[in-house]
Amino acid sequence: MTKRGFALKNSSGVAKCPKCGNNKKFIAVCDQVAEDGCEIWVECYSCNYNPFAESSGSCIESVMGSSDDCNLMMAVDEWTSLIEKGNKGSVFNIKTGRRLIK
Ligand SMILES: [Zn+2]
Repeated sequence: MTKRGFALKNSSGVAKCPKCGNNKKFIAVCDQVAEDGCEIWVECYSCNYNPFAESSGSCIESVMGSSDDCNLMMAVDEWTSLIEKGNKGSVFNIKTGRRLIK
């Protein structure tokens, strides 16, 4: 599992952390779950709030196994949908670009 912090240049449209109000700095977490894939999600940089922890199976699957900027933005989108819509159990598959609702 690898983690790295990043700051958004433009945080408009990004949900605020329900604990501390931060919507600019996040920690990207990449967890290798298969030889050719990993799950990516983001945590709040300030307080480590992680909406994905309460929603098992909700994360970004990347077949490239990387946490590049494109994947990070998808993870941030998922953060926003989890916080604002309580969208539990959604999985975004980068390979197909389809959002799968379980
Ligand atoms: Zn926070």
